[in-house]
Amino acid sequence: MSARAIGRFDFARNPQIRFGWGRRSELGEVCGEFGATSGLLVIGSRTLVRLGEEKRLCFALRDSGVVVGRPSVVVSGEPTVELIDELTNEIRPDTPDVIVAVGGGAAMDTAKALAATLADPDWSGVREFLEGVGSGKPIDFPTIPVVVLPTTGGTGAEVTKNAVITSYAPPFKKSMRSPQLVPRCAIVDPELSAHASRETTVAAGMDALTQNVESLLSNRSTAISAALAADGASWAWQGLSMFADGTDDRIVRESLALAALQSGLALANSGLGLAHGVAAALGSHCRVPHGLACAVMLPTALEVNRSMLASGWSQLAAAWGLNNDGDPSQPVIDNVRRLSAKLNVPTRLRDLGVERSQLVAIARDSRGNSMTANPVQLSDDRLLAVLTEVF
Ligand SMILES: [Zn+2]
Repeated sequence: MSARAIGRFDFARNPQIRFGWGRRSELGEVCGEFGATSGLLVIGSRTLVRLGEEKRLCFALRDSGVVVGRPSVVVSGEPTVELIDELTNEIRPDTPDVIVAVGGGAAMDTAKALAATLADPDWSGVREFLEGVGSGKPIDFPTIPVVVLPTTGGTGAEVTKNAVITSYAPPFKKSMRSPQLVPRCAIVDPELSAHASRETTVAAGMDALTQNVESLLSNRSTAISAALAADGASWAWQGLSMFADGTDDRIVRESLALAALQSGLALANSGLGLAHGVAAALGSHCRVPHGLACAVMLPTALEVNRSMLASGWSQLAAAWGLNNDGDPSQPVIDNVRRLSAKLNVPTRLRDLGVERSQLVAIARDSRGNSMTANPVQLSDDRLLAVLTEVF
């Protein structure tokens, strides 16, 4: 084996992480640790309210001396510019000491955005903070501490420094980004995802899988991010394969939660790739849910990048126990296609309600931060041809 060189790299700040079944009971203790006395709950779905989770978390906070003064913010759908501005104006007179998010990426991103907008001494709207569409206003002031409890085992937003905010008119999906947005603590309790629907589980699980795969193959991948992503890809594989075979137990939920967590730690340091670049545009132009968009784009993203001689391909094949002799990209791609088929993931953009006439605009708006990490650099024409092929 030839010697491998190691260049320079950074590894970003992380939250404190508490992983394990049932550990949401530690919420009060966590918030007490940083002296919070007033809190705001951001909830990702009505189901969590119905199941009594919201009440349990409120009691846990109260027992530790944290008063939850106003009704929880219930987030349905991805956070928009309008939603964040409205919530900020409404909550600012009573700004809490801690924001607790329980839910998927939408709830966590809402909490992370509010952590900045509620503390902004010079508040003039969330758009100012958004990459590419705002004025580049920095988040250089102390933000409100955020504690997150992810429930869907998908996005990895529990550990990242960005919040994705959507606009439908004009259509864009952009991040606000700052080390100040990294949550203070992530309580990753896989039991919270036990009631997720089949649809949510598949979309979130495929998102975690895609994030680990794209992070591993990324042109900004580093030794630590690659190790996390390769291991994360094996957990995603275990969880999704068992789920596809009809099992939904504690091991499945723990595997998917760990896969998502590791994908977040990895992608925060490596960036992503083509599937995520296109998924952002599919979200803002056609309202395709993020995980589903990633799932549909993943096989195509792999095909586009297979010419790259990245060691990531062999790491992926090894993580999935595939035959690693010769070109490892083919068995990896075949395996992803087989898994997607078993999970009934659509294979074409037209199955997601995309119109052919929208492809040019989707190609144009796929050029975000994710696309710059894609191993193969695509011209506008090539990207449009790729989208036309998967249409
Ligand atoms: Zn994602």
